Order: sequence, then C-alpha cells, then structure tokens
Amino acid sequence: MIYMDNAASTQCDERVLAAMYPMFNSHFANPSNTSHSMGEEANGHVNEARRLVAKNLNCLDSQIVWTSGATESNNLAILGSIKATQSAGATRNIHVVTSSIEHKSVLSPLEALARSGVEVTFINPNSDGQITVADIVASIKDSTKLVSIMHANNETGVISNIEGVGQILKERKILFHTDASQTFGKFNLDVRKLGVDFLSFSAHKIYGPKGVGGLFVKDEAKIQPILHGGGQELGLRPGTLNVPGIVGLGKAAEISYVQRETDANRIYEFRKRLEAALMSIHPAITVNGHQLERIPNISSVSFPVKQGLRLTDYINNIALSTGSACDNHDRAPSHVMIKMGKSVHSARNTLRLSIGRFTTEDEIESVISELKLVTRGLLT
Ligand code: PLP
Repeated sequence: MIYMDNAASTQCDERVLAAMYPMFNSHFANPSNTSHSMGEEANGHVNEARRLVAKNLNCLDSQIVWTSGATESNNLAILGSIKATQSAGATRNIHVVTSSIEHKSVLSPLEALARSGVEVTFINPNSDGQITVADIVASIKDSTKLVSIMHANNETGVISNIEGVGQILKERKILFHTDASQTFGKFNLDVRKLGVDFLSFSAHKIYGPKGVGGLFVKDEAKIQPILHGGGQELGLRPGTLNVPGIVGLGKAAEISYVQRETDANRIYEFRKRLEAALMSIHPAITVNGHQLERIPNISSVSFPVKQGLRLTDYINNIALSTGSACDNHDRAPSHVMIKMGKSVHSARNTLRLSIGRFTTEDEIESVISELKLVTRGLLT
C-alpha cells in the first residue's frame, strides 16, 4: 500500500517518538502539581514544548492553549469567543462570517450557534477554491463579531489571503479565527502578520501524535472556556495535560521549523511530476484549485469517469481520499467540491492525493503507473 493521505494524518517521526517515550515512564507526573520535583520536571517539558510551538507562530509562550487537536481548538475558538462576546453584553444581533468550505469542526459549531439564534454567513469560494477578501468585506455588518476563515483548505490545498483579511478586521475590531491545521509547521506562520486573534493547529498533520493540538489565543479576555473543570491552561481548557502528546507536538514543531523548506521543495517537485503525469492520461483530467496559491503537498484531481462508476472502487494499492477523512466516513460527496461547482458524480471521482516527508520518488512513480492502469477503460 502506498500512503498518499498525508493531509488526513502523517506518520509519526521517529525523533518525535523518541522525545515522547520518557514521558510515559520516567516523567509521568502530573505537570499541574509542581509541589514536588517530579511534577516540576514534567511541567518543564510542557513549557519547553510551549516555547517551541510559540516560536513557530512568533507569539508569546503564554498565548498557547493545549487541546486535544484542531477539532477542539476550532470549537473553543468559535464557541468560546461568542460566549465571551455574549457575556460582555452582546446578547442580540450577533453575526459571524465563515466560508462554506471550512472543515466540519468549524462548520458544525457554527451551525449549532445558528440554531441558537446567532446569524451566520457562509461565503462560497470562487472557482479557484479561494475565499476572497472582497467577499468577506462585503458580508461584514455592524453586528459582525467574529470571522473564521481557514488558512489552507484540506481538500484542495488552496490558500486564502488571511493577512489581507486580518488587516481589515483589526481596523474594525472584529475577532478573527483561522484554522491553520494544514499550514502550521509547514509555513512560516507569524500570527502578528496574519492579524489573527485565534489560530488552530494539530500535531498529527506534522509528523506528531494524534489527539493533541493547540489554539493560539491573542487575548484571553476575548474567550471563555467551553469545558469546565480544573484551572489548567489559563482556565480555558481544563483537564490533566497530555504530556507525551504535548512533548511530541513540541518536537514535531521543532523539527518542522528546521526542515520545513527542504520538505516543501522536495514535496513540490513530487507534486509537479505527479500532476503532469496524471494530466497526460486524458485531456479532461483537471487539477482543482488555484495553481499558484496552493500548499505543495495536496493535489485534488478530478477524473472524467463514466457515469455510474466510482474510481475508488478500482484502486486497491493507494491510500488516498475523496474529500476529507470526515466526508469519507459517511461516503457523502465532498462539500468543498460541490461548493466549487462540481457535480456529485465529479466530486465522487475527485481524488485527494497528499504527499508527505516520508514519500519516496519510487512511490510517486508507482502511484502514476497504478492510476494509468486503473483508469484504462473507465474514462469517458
Ligand atoms: N481542520 C482541518 C483543516 C483539518 O484538515 C483537520 C484534520 O482533519 C482538522 C481541522 C481536525 O483536526 P484534528 O484531527 O486534530 O481534530
């Protein structure tokens, strides 16, 4: 099996595993109990991870809140900031702007808010899969309290102009959240330049463990907890800290900081080779999304498959997705492809191939051969 699903999750880097291992046996104490040296030591490891992650985002260590992953970070940013807005007195006429191509962990909490009376505008992408600054500005009202727009889309890899949006929202004093799950650790992200109040990230997209992530919070006064318990993480996220996971995330961030450019250049060359070879199979095969404003590791490719057939039924040796892992779960066509104007049949015959640090040249060549073979006789 060739793994081409790195946008869904990545293999844990051996260096990350090595950093995590002692946290299970030697440094297992609860980092919140610093009344003894073992707790203090565990807390030291958590703080070092905080420093490494903050360095990746150019923020203060104290602005990082650990969570169980980007799903929780997105929920905390959205539900927690609206809760804080309501506590500050705005109980009526709350408006939120987002896009229709966000991950389900942004769409679902916003749909829940909409059911409770918050007005939510879902902006559609243009045909390149981008959410434009102009469309965002046009949807802002006096009652807009929060804008949540993802940095790079997890299905197409298309990047939206977060920095441009950030500047405008700062002037208008509107809170700004971005889901950077697909760009954290892969890009030089600077929260000050981006102008965001909240930024979500996850460890398992950057060769770290699953079940751990974080939220950058610019100002803790602008957000309230959505879980209640102990006072960990500035009182914003209670629960005993996942020390092995946090240390793994810190190590993954440290490695990424050093080798993200080398990784990106190598992956970009592989993607160019892959896309050129696939497009040579049939003139109607298309690579979706903006061709320049796109992260290097994701290719969304639509195949003109005969009606009634589904390409993935014929692919046995490549681990890939159609849409995001969440859409695959219920086999629904990708909401991103549909919002970009594809038919259900075309969305179902769009493959997301995502390359990673451990992908080899041989694997790229094998994927090309396999797809050439499999598509024979299936295309219109
Ligand atoms: N947001 C985006 C854009 C993603 O790609 C993912 C990953 O599936 C998530 C959020 C959810 O992240 P996690 O698996 O850490 O909850």
